[in-house]
Amino acid sequence: MNTKEAVNKLNELELKEFALGHAMGIMSYDDETVAPKTSYIPRGKTMGVLSEMSYNLSTGEEAMGLLDYLKEHMDELSAEDRRRVEIRDKQARELRAIPVDEYVAYSELTNEASGVWREAKNKSDYKLFEPYLGKIVDFQRRFAGYAAPDRDPYDYMLDLYEEGLTQEKCEVFFRSLRERIVPLLERVKAAEPVDTGLLSTPFPIPAQRELAHRLMTIEGLPEESVIIGEVEHPFSTGFSKYDNRITTHYYEDNFASSMYSLLHEGGHALYDMHSDDRYSFTSLNGGVSMGVHESQSRFYENIIGRSREFVELARPVLTELCPALNAYSGEQMWRAFNAAAPSLIRTEADELTYPLHIMVRYEMEKAMVKGDVKTAELPEMWNALYKEYLGIDVPDDKNGILQDSHWSGGAIGYFPSYALGSAYGAQLLCKMSETLDVAGAVREGNLSKISRWLEEKIWKYGCLLKPAELMERAFEGPFDPNHYTDYLEKKFAEAYNL
Ligand code: ZN
Repeated sequence: MNTKEAVNKLNELELKEFALGHAMGIMSYDDETVAPKTSYIPRGKTMGVLSEMSYNLSTGEEAMGLLDYLKEHMDELSAEDRRRVEIRDKQARELRAIPVDEYVAYSELTNEASGVWREAKNKSDYKLFEPYLGKIVDFQRRFAGYAAPDRDPYDYMLDLYEEGLTQEKCEVFFRSLRERIVPLLERVKAAEPVDTGLLSTPFPIPAQRELAHRLMTIEGLPEESVIIGEVEHPFSTGFSKYDNRITTHYYEDNFASSMYSLLHEGGHALYDMHSDDRYSFTSLNGGVSMGVHESQSRFYENIIGRSREFVELARPVLTELCPALNAYSGEQMWRAFNAAAPSLIRTEADELTYPLHIMVRYEMEKAMVKGDVKTAELPEMWNALYKEYLGIDVPDDKNGILQDSHWSGGAIGYFPSYALGSAYGAQLLCKMSETLDVAGAVREGNLSKISRWLEEKIWKYGCLLKPAELMERAFEGPFDPNHYTDYLEKKFAEAYNL
């Protein structure tokens, strides 16, 4: 085998991996949106077969032999192919480090745990979920030990979602946010409250569906390659430039919820579908990390979607589809969409308090993984942190520690990427504003000017660059969270006349 043949083999292998991932992803999307209740029975079988095929394909003898060959010939490879080898090598090491029997036991545990978590949440009874959470943390800690015995286990987990992220970086980042967001929130709480009555204006669901399509067009998502599904917890999933599924939910008395979840998921889809064409069907296609992904989704949701100019742009569409909203000016709408107050639920939190919800979870995860706190005491710790960071009392587990699904699925280390993404987005806005009249582009409804900038600086790279390097190149300098806190101070000083 020569290097050219090896790269051809790599292309074939990654196409097969794409195909299996595509099939499984479509099945999961189908499950979340339209599949009938009992379809879980055949789907369980099919997913079992496909995931075993996928595991064997990616970590079997042939793939590992190819990887070894390519690693020995790195200097003959292009920068793109070297990165592909690097990504595969990292994934293969992680997967193969875990003994198969433990991997299977863990899959069974998380499969069961998600059902138990749902029941515990409905009954607001942490005790039901507690033994599962304890076991999940134990497994995760052991897996980290297998894959990276020399590293701190929580650092290893953070790196799974945001390559290069460590607790040291998180500490600096969260400290700088806390120092400025906590006093800012105190000022907002002391200010005259914003009138949010218009947010509960009844907005018929068929009209909200039409609104979602109009917003999709404004955001620049092509109808022929992106579809909107309806689910309880919105998400998006992208398979190639030509096949993107975003989701939302509709509540008649809360139209802003679907409006902003649509813009958020649309941001994910835009990122996913604009990798360089040459990366299609390879491991370089799509978004590079959760943090960078959230920087794009939250950019469209908050920085663009909650700007004065966007609200003015959307107002004629909103009043056409829901004439009762004619009673409110664009200014009133803008203030209502930016109302901020401490609340219990992360997914419903406003832009200002959102990072405080993330910090609570970061402190919890750190303590859980270190073993500093007994699983029985976790709700107490959660409630104390909500009191400390947000100044509110948590009434029960349902509105407290049981609210998110992440831990039941084993996703420990994921949360910090949400806050990091928000901060990345604000610094991108600063950089973009040096060469582009961002507010002007939104005012004239020409969001393509913004998306071309993001495509050029972020999207087209796919997974080629590591997240921190990608962002530093886009910023043309180091990451600095002060851009984010400056942005929040400016916006909320305006919204609340501080
Ligand atoms: Zn998101």
